[in-house]
Amino acid sequence: MNDIASKVLNGDPRSVARLITLVENSSPEGSRAMKDIYPHTGGAHVIGITGVMGSGKSTLISELTCEYRKQGLEVGIIAIDPTSPFSGGALLGDRVRMMELATDEGVFIRSMGTRGMLGGLTSAVYDVVEILDASGKDVVIVETVGVGQAEVDVIKIADTTIVILVPGLGDSIQAIKAGIMEIADIYVVNKADKPGVDQTVAEIESLVDISCSNRDRKTPVLTTSAKESKGIVELAQEIKKHKEYLEKSNEFEAQRRKRYEAELIEIIRKRLMNFIFDESTFKGKVELLIDQISKKEVDPYTAADEILGKILK
Ligand code: GDP
Repeated sequence: MNDIASKVLNGDPRSVARLITLVENSSPEGSRAMKDIYPHTGGAHVIGITGVMGSGKSTLISELTCEYRKQGLEVGIIAIDPTSPFSGGALLGDRVRMMELATDEGVFIRSMGTRGMLGGLTSAVYDVVEILDASGKDVVIVETVGVGQAEVDVIKIADTTIVILVPGLGDSIQAIKAGIMEIADIYVVNKADKPGVDQTVAEIESLVDISCSNRDRKTPVLTTSAKESKGIVELAQEIKKHKEYLEKSNEFEAQRRKRYEAELIEIIRKRLMNFIFDESTFKGKVELLIDQISKKEVDPYTAADEILGKILK
């Protein structure tokens, strides 16, 4: 086993950060270490948290993390939202809870941007989840802004997905539009200290009634006020109950299998893309074909056949 892998397995935060950087850069050393740590993964409960910007995700995640720390659990946080305060910067300084989290050895926070990651974000997130899991985190929280398909794909990695909404007209409709309804295991109406909360809860519950009518588990709708630390213990309990439900109903294995399938596809996709677009000799051929396509000398389908033909021969 290589050095970095054994240090990650011992929970060394600097090695965790280093391995994440290595895999983000598709380094062979990173791939080797991933192979070594793999047998030690699968223990962490992966929780996806999604919702529109400003719904209080970061505040809620801080509170939830504090609750897990009180229970003696170690937590990894992956923030996909590039504007998340977890990415550091000025906002972090305003938030006492987050300051505490950032200095707590039992918490590892990593933010990941979508920039410059040609189709590679999902694969990189899978890797980071595995690394945090192997480093001994009991819970890994993945935070995304639930707007695009990419975020919805990322959140599929989670064992338990929480959709956050806030009181006010149109939020639940927004959730359906984003294709989020089908991925929610728990709804949270945050900012329950604001007016209109009962109506929002009723709206979501009526949607849940329709969509869950032929399922054996009804998606619960909780209320929290993250800012006032209210409803957090109940949320942690509900998350635990969902995991127990998954395990009892054998859905846990089925869901994990889907995750591993997606992970394998992502690794193959990433390697193929790197091979075609980064490898020096091949890149020239690709550039040439693009020139020919622009001049209408070749059509893109024939060009794709030619590239794939070279790989598969
Ligand atoms: P994110 O963009 O979803 O991560 O949202 P943030 O956690 O950054 O919160 C956005 C704003 O909403 C901040 O000003 C928070 O202080 C505020 N906020 C978060 N939770 C609550 C809450 O429960 N009640 C109220 N009134 N404000 C909240």
